[in-house]
Amino acid sequence: MSTRLTTTGGAPIADNQNTLTAGPRGPVLLEDYQLIEKLAHQNRERIPERVVHAKGWGAYGTLTVTNDITKYTRASIFAEVGKTTPLIARFSTVAGELGAADHERDVRGFAVKFYTDEGNWDVVGNNTPVFFVRDPLKFPDFIHTQKRHPRTNLRSATAMWDFWSLSPEAIHQITILMSDRGLPQTPMQMNGYGSHTYSFWNDAGERFWVKFHFKTLQGHAHYTNAEGAEVTGRTREGYQEALFGTIESGEFPRWKLCVQIMPELDAEKTPYNPFDLTKIWPHSDYPLIEVGIMELNRNPDNYFAEIEQAAFSPSNKVPGIGYSPDKMLQARVWSYADAHRYRLGTHYEALPVNAPRCPVHHYHKDGNMNFFGQRTGHVDAYYEPNSIAGSAKQDPSVAEPPLRISGDAARYDHRVGNDDYSQARALHDRVLSDAERQRLYRNTAEAMQGVPEEIIERMLGHYAQVSPAYAEGIRAARAEIIGALQAAE
Ligand code: NDP
Repeated sequence: MSTRLTTTGGAPIADNQNTLTAGPRGPVLLEDYQLIEKLAHQNRERIPERVVHAKGWGAYGTLTVTNDITKYTRASIFAEVGKTTPLIARFSTVAGELGAADHERDVRGFAVKFYTDEGNWDVVGNNTPVFFVRDPLKFPDFIHTQKRHPRTNLRSATAMWDFWSLSPEAIHQITILMSDRGLPQTPMQMNGYGSHTYSFWNDAGERFWVKFHFKTLQGHAHYTNAEGAEVTGRTREGYQEALFGTIESGEFPRWKLCVQIMPELDAEKTPYNPFDLTKIWPHSDYPLIEVGIMELNRNPDNYFAEIEQAAFSPSNKVPGIGYSPDKMLQARVWSYADAHRYRLGTHYEALPVNAPRCPVHHYHKDGNMNFFGQRTGHVDAYYEPNSIAGSAKQDPSVAEPPLRISGDAARYDHRVGNDDYSQARALHDRVLSDAERQRLYRNTAEAMQGVPEEIIERMLGHYAQVSPAYAEGIRAARAEIIGALQAAE
């Protein structure tokens, strides 16, 4: 017998082609529960899209540890070489809505949820090691400039450059965004970075600051703006096609997970604030240490259930891994979980894609979609502390060691004494080739089209402080674009 169609209540359905009517001409009967159920479900098929990172692509995979880092962290995921932990990864663009084209110049989200045996650990990063702002107070305003103008409902280059020109800390990230890496060909051909500074702590109670790097083993590949536009003309779903298709064909993309490790008290000595999200740690000071290989090897069966509802949050950390005084991280710890409660509901962590693969015990009680009942370890335990044998209790052995760096606010203040230019200079002057620099100038000049001169001049003032050649390169590219436009008129 073929599979029987049923209502959501499980009752078999006799006719899925004709609505019930009172007579040959109608009207439709209110008792046609099947029709009402179908329409009611259709009306509820959408949930709020993410305000940022709405358009995404993801897959399941594993992390296999290749190098022993237990002297830095007691996290069970890194307990031994060869240990494999299941994971789900989601990549995304930041600004575009759910239906946006994949091949747009934008930062890419790079989020990984590791289902470790001591709880879920989420690294919710990007394909760039830094970010536009260092203080979360500026984040909602920044995102407003990336989204639509309230009156025109169009994206506004003027708003973006106005904000950036008044936020010099953004120039490092803008340089990366306008460089080749701002438009990767596929999600497989880009690096991921935890971006924030996190912490590791080991069995001896020592803390280390840590940065996470996922280095693509597919090699980097990028499109120019013109190539990206050409691809978008053919397909708006190029990333989904590439990621899904590659895994479906049996090819499994891989990344090398590396860490940079800074002993806790070094944070008092570095010439830059190591908790500033607009800064990297130079490799020469803190070299990359290989940790393991991440492989993606299974496509989800249902995009909505497993990717749209995948809820990544920096609040998911496990014993041996902690936060840092990075203000942006501190805000995201709260804000991401809050976004998921709003989008998915109170018990979003119990959805299959988000559910830990280890025992879960807590005293949160009822609420929308509590389909799992009580998780306290004992039927009579619905409060804590209690004297009920077998009920879940705190475990002081997983307490983080005390913070040893000084509370000197000036040292870690995100407003004073920041050098916003020298790391962008290192990238421009030392890392990029001549050809890459020319494309950087061109991309930047293209992105400035239509922006008032006074904003552009303010911005060029910042570029000149990174490197006079940088400002001159953009000026020359602008002159070329304007000349070509005038010639075409
Ligand atoms: P290194 O020469 O040791 O490293 C340069 C880094 O730049 C490499 O990680 C390389 O990545 C990366 N890179 C190459 N092209 C680009 C690009 N277009 N956009 C962004 N990154 C790129 O130098 P330092 O560690 O002293 O850093 C110098 C500058 O390099 C930094 O100021 C920063 O702008 C950039 N950078 C530094 C990173 C870090 O964590 N230290 C990470 C990424 C960028 P790959 O090895 O994958 O080719």
